[in-house]
Order: sequence, then C-alpha cells, then structure tokens
Amino acid sequence: MKLQLPVHKNEHRTGTVTDLTYEGNGVIKVDHYPIFIPNALSGETIEYVVTKVSKNFAWGRALAWQTKSADRVELADQRYLQTGIAPLGHLSYPAQLKFKQKLLVDLLAKAHLPLEVAPTLGMKTPVRYRNKAQVPVKLIRGRLETGFYKRGSHDLVPIEDFLIQDPVIDQTIVAVRDVLRRHQIPAYDEQTGRGVIRTVMVRRGYYSHEVMVVLITKTKHLPAQQALTAEIVAAVPELKSLVQNINEKQTNKLLGDQNRVLWGQATINDQLLGIDFKISPLSFYQVNPQQTEKLYQTAIEQAKLDGSQTVIDAYCGIGTISLAVAKHAKKVYGVEIVPAAIADAKQNAVLNGIDNAEFVVGKAEDQMAKWQAAGLKPDVLIVDPPRKGLAESLIEAAGQMGPKKIIYVSCNPATLVRDLQRLAAVGYQVTQPIQPVDQFPQTTHVESVTVLERQK
Ligand code: SAH
Repeated sequence: MKLQLPVHKNEHRTGTVTDLTYEGNGVIKVDHYPIFIPNALSGETIEYVVTKVSKNFAWGRALAWQTKSADRVELADQRYLQTGIAPLGHLSYPAQLKFKQKLLVDLLAKAHLPLEVAPTLGMKTPVRYRNKAQVPVKLIRGRLETGFYKRGSHDLVPIEDFLIQDPVIDQTIVAVRDVLRRHQIPAYDEQTGRGVIRTVMVRRGYYSHEVMVVLITKTKHLPAQQALTAEIVAAVPELKSLVQNINEKQTNKLLGDQNRVLWGQATINDQLLGIDFKISPLSFYQVNPQQTEKLYQTAIEQAKLDGSQTVIDAYCGIGTISLAVAKHAKKVYGVEIVPAAIADAKQNAVLNGIDNAEFVVGKAEDQMAKWQAAGLKPDVLIVDPPRKGLAESLIEAAGQMGPKKIIYVSCNPATLVRDLQRLAAVGYQVTQPIQPVDQFPQTTHVESVTVLERQK
C-alpha cells in the first residue's frame, strides 16, 4: 500500500514557520506533519520547495520570504550557515539566548517536570571567542585549501575568517596553509587514503596568548620538515609549541595517539579564574574561556562552599573545575577516563601549589562505587559528563553516598532532563532555577548548571 503523505518531493508550497528545532531548523506543519527548513525563523511566511520526504517528516528549502522575522540578522556570508560554523548566525543574539532557554523549558514540559529555567547568561561580544580551531585540509583544483565542511558532507568550503574563532587563530591557519602550499605538501585524500596533511589544529591561550599549532598527518614522514618548521616559526610570532600528530587510520577520528614536538614546548599555558593550566594537544579544554569562567563561577557559587566541604568532581578532565573549587573546599577528589588528562591535572595541581586535590584515572561510575565502598562521604558532587549524560550506576552510587548537593554541569539538555528524573528517584530535587550559560554563541549548543539537594 502506498503511503499517503501530505506533501510530495519537488512540490512548491507556502507556509508559516511555527517553531525552531534544537538544530536550528524552521518547522512548518501541514496537517501535523512537520517539514524542516534550514534558514527559516519562527513567524516567517515563506515560499519553499520540498526536497526530501519520509514517513514522519520532510525537508524543504526556502525560496522566498513573504514576511521576515524581526529577529533575523542578514548574514554577510552565507557560508557560515551552510557549513555549520554559525547555524544560528541568522538569529539576533538576544533571540539566540531565548532560544536556548526555551529549549530547556520545552524539554522539561515534555517530561512533566515543573522546573524553572533562568534567562541564559550570554556574552557581551558573542563572536571570535573560540580558543581552539580544527580545520580540515583538502586539495581543490590543484590547490591546498583550509576551511570547513558543508553541513552533513565532506565537501570543503575554503574559509579564512571563521567568525567565531580568535582572529589570531584565523591568521595562524592562513599562515600555515601558505607554508604548506609553498612546499607543495600533499593534502590527505579520504577517497584514496593517500597524502600527508589531514587537519590543522590551533590553540591560543586567552590570557597567555601562547599559540600551539598541531599538524595532523596521515604519515609518520613529514616532507620538508625542517623548512616547514622554520617557516611556521617565522610566520607565527606567538608560537610556543609546534607538534606533529600522527593519525595513520582511515577514520573520521581527528587525532591520533602519537605526538612529535617539531619545535618549542609540548604544551601551552593558560589561566582560568586565576589558576594556571598546562594544555597538551590531546587534552579536553573548554573552548570559550570567558564563558567557562562564568560557568564555573556559577557552579562554585551554587555549591556554597566555605572551606569545610569535601567535593567530588566526576568527569574532571585536566582538573579545571577541581582546582578552581579546591581553594574553597577542604578536599577535592577528581576522576577522569583519559590518563593523559589526569597526568595534566596532577601537574596542574603542583603548578598552582594546590595540595588538597587528588586525581584518579577511571570511569566515573566505577570510581564512585569504589569511593563509596571505601567510606568516602562527599558534601558536594559535581558532574560534568559528555553528551550522553550520567551512567545509571553513577546515579545509584551517588544515591548511596548521599552528598547534600549535586551540581550538574550539562552540555546536552536531553540527557540532563532524563538524568534529573533518575536523580529524583534516588532522593535529589532541583532547588534553584536551572541556569543556562552560553558557551557556544551562534551555534545551537546549550550548556547549563543545575543544583540538586538531597531530600530528608
Ligand atoms: N570538567 C572538565 C571536563 C568536562 S568534559 C572541564 O570542564 O574541562 C567531560 C570529560 O569527561 C572529558 O574529559 C572526558 O574524557 C571525560 N569522560 C568521558 N566519559 C567518562 C567516564 N565514563 N568517566 C570519567 N570521565 C569520563
């Protein structure tokens, strides 16, 4: 039997956008059947063509606007929308902040959780904030190019001004690209598996201004290594570290496990809330330093630490939250799955003369159970998990340990809402409005802090 759908492919239609999805696409409904349309905003009436249909939804492309949203910003460069560098770049910043708050509100309502969400804490200047860039390298019509992939593809769009990155990082990428071009270093080709350079990664300390350049290569051998090194050193005045990272696998994973220092140091330094951090090529480090300080400050204030508490920082990375909290606590325990990150965390503690923080390599869910068995009684548990959220076993261990407070730093509202329900089942209730903090302006990512307290 042929399915009866309310629209068909290549059909031209007119409609009014009623909502924006979590990916930033406009939604037009035809008899309850949703059509997702990129670059269309709530309230806009548009003419569009249906580009793809499936059983439960369709995709469309906007062709003309009969009315435009007052929140629309005309982007000078459409490539930012096309490539996913700035998927919300067409929405005014105040409206972006409201969008992020509403996303949480809607998910909570759907889960029947009557919780308040505070207005999103935004940035004063919501562009050029990223302290890190990873850009693919490709040969296009015989020329080595750096840029960004078109959304949902591996078609490289050459770009020099990335809008959301530290401008010195943009300049560094162009300088490195020009050196690679001069020496005709072959770009890696995903199809054939041949070539040398896959990706250029650049980090720059927000306070320190120290620059790290990582050349990610398919091959161990780097042609013209000496000349490349000398020319990159000459072209990037703030360079402190030049590293070759070798990724021999034919995969989408960006970085390999092997690093070779070509010039300078193996790490760069930067500060967060006045604490020094050493950052190596493979470690996770928050990409928006200004907002990260606001995020951590919010978490620390909400934990109401007075120097007498024991704190666990699960998912601690290189110890950024742990070390920021250590000043305000009696003792901090951090756990993290990546051994190199824990090595960095320990070094960072020494570097800052902090002696009340202890770091362990492990899965947070396993280590929590071990700590619990060993009789550790934390007052506060801080969790900052990856997108998939908390493991069920971690929630059980937390319930048995019984900290007075849990501070949940989340980068994914969907798993946050799921976990809040699970935490309620082991005795924890949200006691303050959930606080979204905008870590990624111009994008659809939503970061937030939630405080939970143990119910008597
Ligand atoms: N709090 C840190 C890191 C947060 S990112 C910061 O703000 O910088 C999440 C971290 O969790 C990553 O460092 C990742 O390596 C780690 N991780 C992922 N799964 C884990 C697990 N099961 N147990 C412990 N750590 C994990």
